[in-house]
Amino acid sequence: MLRGFTTFKCDKCGNKFKAADIEFQATAFSQPMKCPKCGSFHTKPIKLFPYNLMDRFVYKKIWKMMDECQEEQDVQPQEFLNL
Ligand SMILES: [Zn+2]
Repeated sequence: MLRGFTTFKCDKCGNKFKAADIEFQATAFSQPMKCPKCGSFHTKPIKLFPYNLMDRFVYKKIWKMMDECQEEQDVQPQEFLNL
């Protein structure tokens, strides 16, 4: 479900970018959006900063799931919008 737009920060290169804020599997978390700079999916909404250990833990799990998903079928989130 699209909740609007938010600023994401890439965990790999530190790039900040605006992208669609989509519910991650009906949870309060946002689906990580692909970093336009390095192409990584290891991103999370900046609104969750400063780092909360629980967020960090949850996003690490989400990133791992996305890595596995990509290895299987190389899918890209269709809702990705580069603003
Ligand atoms: Zn990046």
